[in-house]
Amino acid sequence: MLPQSIQDLAQKLQYFPGFGSRSSQKLALDVMYLADEKYTELVGALESARKNTSFCQICGFFSQRGSICSICSDDSRNHHQICIVEKPTDVLSMEKSQIFRGRYHVLNQLISPLDGIFAESTRLGELFDVRIPDSLLGKTKEVECILFFKAGFSSEATTAYIREMIARRGYIDSVKMTRLAQGLPLYYNTDTLDQATMVRALEDRREVV
Ligand SMILES: [Zn+2]
Repeated sequence: MLPQSIQDLAQKLQYFPGFGSRSSQKLALDVMYLADEKYTELVGALESARKNTSFCQICGFFSQRGSICSICSDDSRNHHQICIVEKPTDVLSMEKSQIFRGRYHVLNQLISPLDGIFAESTRLGELFDVRIPDSLLGKTKEVECILFFKAGFSSEATTAYIREMIARRGYIDSVKMTRLAQGLPLYYNTDTLDQATMVRALEDRREVV
């Protein structure tokens, strides 16, 4: 019934997670109602976001292309707490707590042997070769690695690997591993956690032994 061009646009909008046929068709039609000026601004913003945004070379969070992110460049954030997360968007969930003043390390994916994903396909190498040694440099405090993963097999596999690497690199006395899962619903969605839940989960974190 609708012109082919609208149907094509609606189909492409389904590339986005959470967009089904109905919501994508509605958004495609909304595009038609945009004033020319607004439409031009929207296309410009899309292109600019894509062209000018990249991932921070240090932590893996979003950054302006060619720069380190706003968190890594904030000198007031401490180096002795590193929150390890799976996806860049998990950083936003953790920041919701507004009480975490450490830094982040994004793995991009968790170890999942059944899916053929091993440590080499994640950013765990950078964690042990660069981030932890840098954080320990000249510091008298121990480094705390706070794990913020969704519960599941890949979370357990990744946790086990990190524990093994801490032992193998001789960090048992200098690197403490804690996890946030306590206080969080078992199958929480990191994108929809609210501030109170995040604060409770952070304050109730437990050492992983
Ligand atoms: Zn960064």
